[in-house]
Amino acid sequence: MSGIVTYSPAYTLVPTYECFNRCTYCNFRTEPGQSSWLKLSEAQRQLERLQSEGVCEILLLSGEVHPRSPKRKSWFQRIYDICELALELGFLPHTNAGPLSFAEMAQLKQVNVSMGLMLEQLTPKLLQTVHRQAPSKVPAVRLQQLEWAGELQIPFTTGLLLGLGETEADWWETLEVIAQIQQRWSNIQEVILQPHSPGHQQSFSASAFHPYQLPEVIATAREILPSTIAIQFPPNLLSDPKFILECIAAGATDLGGIGPKDEVNPDYPHTDLSFLAEILATAGWVLVPRLPVYPPYQSWLSPRLQAAVGQWQKVEG
Ligand code: SF4
Repeated sequence: MSGIVTYSPAYTLVPTYECFNRCTYCNFRTEPGQSSWLKLSEAQRQLERLQSEGVCEILLLSGEVHPRSPKRKSWFQRIYDICELALELGFLPHTNAGPLSFAEMAQLKQVNVSMGLMLEQLTPKLLQTVHRQAPSKVPAVRLQQLEWAGELQIPFTTGLLLGLGETEADWWETLEVIAQIQQRWSNIQEVILQPHSPGHQQSFSASAFHPYQLPEVIATAREILPSTIAIQFPPNLLSDPKFILECIAAGATDLGGIGPKDEVNPDYPHTDLSFLAEILATAGWVLVPRLPVYPPYQSWLSPRLQAAVGQWQKVEG
């Protein structure tokens, strides 16, 4: 067996860690008002440092300000301005900032080559447990984001978080719904299957989702999802390299954004790229970089974004 496995050379900028949700497994958030927002000048300093380092994707990963908060407008503007800055400096932005209004999503489309939001799990049972204090995690709200992204022709990444207390049947149901959205809108470029991996900050006490289960989940996901959707998993969350090979053999083809820090799982450093390439090579796989927008979706982008993508395609030959 052999073929290509992709990853995105990425760097994460965090406009703010503050978040009005309180998911009990979170290792990212701070309380609203307790951490300063990323200033444009600081974002510029970080981005300029990256310009000669082969980084293509700037992932904007943000905690959420409540839609009715007086701070929402400036929060959104900060995200927009950082995307604009990243584009001006030659990077390709991808934003994941929680549920957005239709108008916010339409605006961000102008400065993002793709966007993302994890569905996590569609079962409403989690609203009684890990999401009891997380209004943004109402499944219907998240599902609507995928639909709006389709309507707006935004190439989209979504995914499942595994091991929050859901059942196997819940996984398949969530995947079936993603497959239906793809049939309707054809806007889902990748689905992440992310195992719950306990970190230093969370109060949720369940043990980690064991990586030996992940290849089985990937194999079934591959049967449920249309072949136009790439399956992605985060290699830094798998305790043993043998699971990486098993996940690829089961049908995953992408390792996601790899950069200096996994902001969502800060207790699990990203795996070294050359080490990953070596592991994959033992089974005949070749690790290659990709852009944060997949080729079939490039025609959905504005002329300005298509030109930015074209520059990277020239670099990659
Ligand atoms: S997981 Fe996301 S939505 Fe939930 S508290 Fe953390 S940052 Fe907020």
